Amino acid sequence: MTDASSNCLFCRILRGEIPAKKVYEDDHVFAFEDINPKAPTHVLVIPKKHFAGLKEAQADDADVIGRCHLAAAEIARQRNIEQGYRTVINVGPGAGQSVFHLHVHLLGGREMKWPAG
Ligand code: AMP
Ligand code: ZN
Repeated sequence: MTDASSNCLFCRILRGEIPAKKVYEDDHVFAFEDINPKAPTHVLVIPKKHFAGLKEAQADDADVIGRCHLAAAEIARQRNIEQGYRTVINVGPGAGQSVFHLHVHLLGGREMKWPAG
């Protein structure tokens, strides 16, 4: 395999090559606990299809980007953090993106300050 997914950390998690604490899975998306949580709930929701991030997304990725957010909303519902949570996509290194497979952070379970910084 020589495509972008071969060395992608999150594709490796999807293939089971690197362990992760699975939170949710369906045909299109996968969710797992962030290894370095920044809140009592910090879950990453990723498309099963590899693409680098929001900048690189194409029109036909719209469905799965929406599905990632809807999965985050369902996880938040299950964890009773609906009083206030945040879904975040960091776009580009200047915004803190460090893994170049699109992911939605679900953060909650504590007071969420604004602006995020
Ligand atoms: P970002 O900085 O927006 O690209 O987010 C990447 C996230 O992936 C960070 O919050 C990391 O803590 C998280 N992360 C990195 N490696 C792993 C891993 N092996 N398992 C789970 N989360 C990870
Ligand atoms: Zn990937």
